[in-house]
Amino acid sequence: MLPADREIRLGIWKVHILHHAATRPVWGKWLIEELAEHGHRLSPGTLYPALARMEKNGWLRRLGSAPHARARQTFRITPEGRRLLEGLRRDVAELYRELMLPGHETEEPPKRGGGRVTPARSGRNGGRRTS
Ligand SMILES: [Zn+2]
Repeated sequence: MLPADREIRLGIWKVHILHHAATRPVWGKWLIEELAEHGHRLSPGTLYPALARMEKNGWLRRLGSAPHARARQTFRITPEGRRLLEGLRRDVAELYRELMLPGHETEEPPKRGGGRVTPARSGRNGGRRTS
């Protein structure tokens, strides 16, 4: 992956890690497999420093006992991490609306005379496209 991609995706991966650490204990190998299922191939050399920084920032804490021998570093979210995650949920929801939902324009007021963009209906008009 290109360094530029990595820079911006690192934040997204951390949100993903916080989300899972809020619901269950997580460890490196499990997270690498989980993120791979979403199409994100992280190396241990990327993931472990990220986990260490998240711990240092007080968002994750290391558990004393691991669920099995190969899971040496098991993490759960901290109360501070939980507060951060709640704020991030709002940010992600807003970003999702902005990026993905047609007609969600927040910067300019709606134009008069019906300039509003509505989601295209599928399955009508025989698939005719106008662009
Ligand atoms: Zn996931």
